[in-house]
Amino acid sequence: MLNSAQQLVQSAADILDLDDEERTYVLKPQAEHSFDISLSNGNTYRAFRVQHNNALGPFKGGVRFHSDVDIDEVRALALLMSLKTAAVGLTLGGGKGGVSVNPKQLSKSELEELSRSYAQHLADVIGPDVDVPAPDVNTNAQIIDWMVDAYEQVTGDTSHASFTGKSIERGGSEGRVDATGRGGAIALSELLQKRGEHEGELTYAVQGFGNVGQYFATSIAEFVPAAKLVAISDSSATICNSEGFDVHEIADFKSQGGSFKDYEGPAEIKEADAIIGHDVDVLVFAALGDVIQESNQETIKSRYILELANGPVNDAAHDQLTQKGITIIPDIIANAGGVIVSYFEWLQNKNNEHWNLERVHQELENYMVKAMDTVQDLSQDKGVSLKEAAAVVAIKRIIKARNKEE
Ligand code: NAD
Repeated sequence: MLNSAQQLVQSAADILDLDDEERTYVLKPQAEHSFDISLSNGNTYRAFRVQHNNALGPFKGGVRFHSDVDIDEVRALALLMSLKTAAVGLTLGGGKGGVSVNPKQLSKSELEELSRSYAQHLADVIGPDVDVPAPDVNTNAQIIDWMVDAYEQVTGDTSHASFTGKSIERGGSEGRVDATGRGGAIALSELLQKRGEHEGELTYAVQGFGNVGQYFATSIAEFVPAAKLVAISDSSATICNSEGFDVHEIADFKSQGGSFKDYEGPAEIKEADAIIGHDVDVLVFAALGDVIQESNQETIKSRYILELANGPVNDAAHDQLTQKGITIIPDIIANAGGVIVSYFEWLQNKNNEHWNLERVHQELENYMVKAMDTVQDLSQDKGVSLKEAAAVVAIKRIIKARNKEE
């Protein structure tokens, strides 16, 4: 993942004709923190925070708790965060954190101790104007609330602007939970509008019906009225129905813990990976990274791919698919809705405000539409993919902000 993120920067740097010093500036993290967290149960876990780039504003990025977390993964994700915040026009930089732990093996009190300890270790190097962490894989509002509390006990800060993704009671924002899926729906709609394909029927399939996949599916009708969900997968199966699914009924089925292999509604049940080759207009990835590689890219039949997960299509497959004329809306734009609403949360905390849901949705739409338009125009002007165009937009902004600082 790190190689692939660095390669994306190099391709964009070629287009921008950056010199070696500028390339190194964009690639190299500004600071890295690695430390051990020892719990009172005697176990020790390796923890990380990579502060990648802050030319545009405080470092920003989630903290994940996962047994696969290592420094290279955190470096890659931190670099991608710098590109993402810059590509969508936020006054934030990029960072990422993680702890190498399987949180499912911890009790609630151990999880609280780990979360508080993580924030205490970093208290001197993070903060509302320095580095603002957020939730990521296996971390949530409760974990962030513990981290904010620990941070505030050490520093005396009371703004709550040190972390985003908090519960509403602790200063969280309305509209955070649906932000990533909704932002993806807006990005797709904007692309289709430019291509004059916005009004006609549009079939789509979604891999992964968790938070992001569900909110994409429940939001898309607002932006693309004739969108029809004809296939969905989870890790157990793909279910298909060419007549279209009732999105809310499927969301209820999943939120009650249902597995698609046991789905009893009108549908054909296939193996989980069958979703990849389903014949649809838009294939939406909302589960895992590295799903599409050289070996399986030829099975794709869709005209569009929406990357709501991080890195679902690897570099080589990306190039092969775009050469075949398939349009891929890249993760750094497609799934930026989450960090955009995190940015709104940070602004609300700093200004002691609480925006209503309507305002959050409107502001999210403004940012997503502008970002998609800028990236699409540049992609057309330069004859490059949307992914390269997004990286070019981001790097240009980072370099410009750095030059202003000097
Ligand atoms: P989630 O855990 O709520 O949902 C993921 C879903 O994918 C689960 O329902 C799981 O059953 C399903 N899944 C797992 N393996 C699968 C497989 N092989 N085939 C089909 N489905 C499978 O996670 P989420 O918050 O919805 O995030 C989804 C992806 O989006 C992740 O890659 C995440 O990193 C990325 N992402 C999330 C956000 C956010 O705001 N939540 C922001 C940016 C990126």
